[in-house]
Amino acid sequence: MPYHEQSITSVRRWSPKTFSFTTTRPPDFVFENGQFVTLGLRREGKLVPRAYSIVSDPREADLEFLSIHVPDGALTSQLAELGVGDHVWINSKVTGSLTLDHVQPGRNLYLLATGTGLAPFISLIRGEKVYERFERVILVHSVRTAAELSYREEIEARVGERLRYVPTVTREPHANNQRGADLFRGGELFRMLDLPAADPEHDRVMLCGNPQMNREMTDYLKANGWTMTNYKGVGNFTVEQAFVGVAAGD
Ligand SMILES: Cc1cc2nc3c(=O)[nH]c(=O)nc-3n(C[C@H](O)[C@H](O)[C@H](O)COP(=O)(O)OP(=O)(O)OC[C@H]3O[C@@H](n4cnc5c(N)ncnc54)[C@H](O)[C@@H]3O)c2cc1C
Repeated sequence: MPYHEQSITSVRRWSPKTFSFTTTRPPDFVFENGQFVTLGLRREGKLVPRAYSIVSDPREADLEFLSIHVPDGALTSQLAELGVGDHVWINSKVTGSLTLDHVQPGRNLYLLATGTGLAPFISLIRGEKVYERFERVILVHSVRTAAELSYREEIEARVGERLRYVPTVTREPHANNQRGADLFRGGELFRMLDLPAADPEHDRVMLCGNPQMNREMTDYLKANGWTMTNYKGVGNFTVEQAFVGVAAGD
């Protein structure tokens, strides 16, 4: 039985469309920063499972997740209603393309997320290894409304010479209204951070967002000399869908 019944230990609502929750951790549940797992709810005896990136660092006792709330979504319409003490089922199998072993070590590591695609990157920046493998980590988070800038305070508290943070908000007035992918492709990102332009020889990129962002960035990187990690080998960029389906974000 790969699914383990676990209890919700806390819930935090960020915006009408996003919330985080923590759960107890199944015994012997081993994972790496950046991986995802399948979790679900049982409704009338039937399990409704969905993929979820793990927000927490493996050293934490509980597991943490960041979730979208799709009002008519089979899972999240129910998940969003739950509170402390309610139960979720968590699979023991973890996997994913956003671990540190999915890119070669390098100078600057760019983490580009939209919406809940931030989740695996919070896990990475909570860990220690990312700072051992890279001189600098640059986290770019694009959302539609400022309320969706989840984990903003935590990220800002971690910001320093080793971690830079670029939040962007596309549908409300904000200091930065451009999408992260556009900042990267246009070079504005490097100018605003006073960093050398990203270079496939020295730098690495991880992508986790809506299908449109993933596609645009993948096409751009491939056309500009970057190599994607796949079954053939470890390249200088890697990608994971934050969700599957029609692009719901911009
Ligand atoms: C590898 C992987 C990792 C994932 N990690 C996360 C995660 O950490 N947090 C998370 O909330 N979801 C994540 N998802 C999406 C998740 O599996 C579910 O799709 C989501 O929880 C909604 O489930 P649902 O049954 O309510 O709606 P679904 O029927 O699954 O989806 C309904 C609609 O909502 C859109 N949608 C689904 N998920 C999102 C999202 N996250 N943001 C914006 N639109 C979305 C879809 O395009 C779809 O059209 C991940 C998906 C994959 C493939």
